[in-house]
Amino acid sequence: MTNDDKIIKLRPHHLLCTQGYSGKGYDEKFVLNMTLITDRMRTDPDLKVRIVFSTDDICRFCPRKRGEGICADDEKVLIFDKRAVSLLDLEEKTYDYQDLITKVHEKMTHEKMKEICGICEWYHMSACEKNILTGKYLLRK
Ligand code: SF4
Repeated sequence: MTNDDKIIKLRPHHLLCTQGYSGKGYDEKFVLNMTLITDRMRTDPDLKVRIVFSTDDICRFCPRKRGEGICADDEKVLIFDKRAVSLLDLEEKTYDYQDLITKVHEKMTHEKMKEICGICEWYHMSACEKNILTGKYLLRK
């Protein structure tokens, strides 16, 4: 495995979803993959992620993915991505993951969370907002 393979590719709004993930998802393959990814995010203080404005390593095993860069829910998810980019001033490049989620924690409020994710089907059943606001997964507090 090269260093490049170890870097997780992440679309902007998945920086938020991964904070609330608790083992639920679209199907078994999706859950297995998302669990592996979030386990690394929650335990490796030196993890790097590459922000991509496209489908990512979480989309890779998602039944809603329709092809490279295409999600069946693009109408919604592209809005989530756009709002996350604007809140966090993101570019398509590699970041230190803990720096990124520290920024998420510092910039997020209940109002902004509702504005970005309010129409997401998972928003009301997931702990994303609570975990982001309390900085649950910050490893360098
Ligand atoms: S629903 Fe769309 S954006 Fe979300 S993981 Fe699946 S393919 Fe990716």
